[in-house]
Amino acid sequence: MGKSIVIAFGGNAITKENQKGTFQEQVVNIKEMCSNLVDLIKNGYHLVLTHGNGPQVGNILIKNELSKSIVPAMPLDVCVSNTQGSLGYAIQQELTNVLVKDKAQIPVVTVVTRVKVDIADPAFQNPTKPVGPFYSENEAKNITAEKGYVMIEDSGRGWRRVVPSPLPLEILEKEAIHYLLEGGTVVIAAGGGGIPVYLDDNGNYTGVEAVIDKDLAGQQLARDVGAETFVILTGVSHVAINYGKESQKELDTITVSEGRRYQQEGHFPPGSMGPKMEAALLFVENGGHKSIITSPE
Ligand code: ADP
Ligand code: MG
Repeated sequence: MGKSIVIAFGGNAITKENQKGTFQEQVVNIKEMCSNLVDLIKNGYHLVLTHGNGPQVGNILIKNELSKSIVPAMPLDVCVSNTQGSLGYAIQQELTNVLVKDKAQIPVVTVVTRVKVDIADPAFQNPTKPVGPFYSENEAKNITAEKGYVMIEDSGRGWRRVVPSPLPLEILEKEAIHYLLEGGTVVIAAGGGGIPVYLDDNGNYTGVEAVIDKDLAGQQLARDVGAETFVILTGVSHVAINYGKESQKELDTITVSEGRRYQQEGHFPPGSMGPKMEAALLFVENGGHKSIITSPE
């Protein structure tokens, strides 16, 4: 098999910050993203794409909330699977369209992907990831009383549900993804960080209301399918040290030990570059050849 690459891109690349998130907006953004991938595919690389779903799953949770008196709200793991389907569909369609224009008949397919987590992961005792709509303090207290959700005040914008963000342990669909890659198919997998499931006491997999960081899930996917390279596409062309300061310096190629040192020095904040650098480092520490963090262009 030729060289394989796992490419992760943010949910913000699909719905940009100032956009409403209409399907048409998503399609335009995805088309642009896909046109950046054609050369890699035509040069014989086997691609697995993975994507975030923050804005999109947030919208599904808002719909759940507004319609709960008419149709039952679905658990968060089901909402994540919904976004894998709808975003997967759009990526499949647009990537196929740009490939066909380039005379490349390459199949593209989306895999609904479950990711194994450990129910004993300390993240379940300490939910940190805000999801869904904003509420008033009173509404938030009622929701906690009624459903047991953990609600926090989110940066002065209102109250929000927080859910656990456990570590990904294994991509359960890894064999199926591997066969598809071997057969020359471009695969879209582990969207939104994957659907978190755990093995219960009876040996059954069960979905759990949590979200897995998409960059950490991406590096697990890259390890599990034996990819050579793991790529994270985001809003900057280079990772920097002293980011946003006078002394900012863009990094080029670095080693794992340099990366770990910069990380310890606090150059990569938890909500943004932190999980990306952690994912990039984990991939190479666990046998990957290289990780790349850059912009789609
Ligand atoms: P995504 O939506 O792709 O997951 P995020 O906005 O969460 O992206 O994180 C990427 C952003 O982190 C960059 O666009 C940049 O604004 C910011 N950032 C924070 N620290 C750094 C750093 N040390 N080097 C480069 N960018 C950084
Ligand atoms: Mg992010």
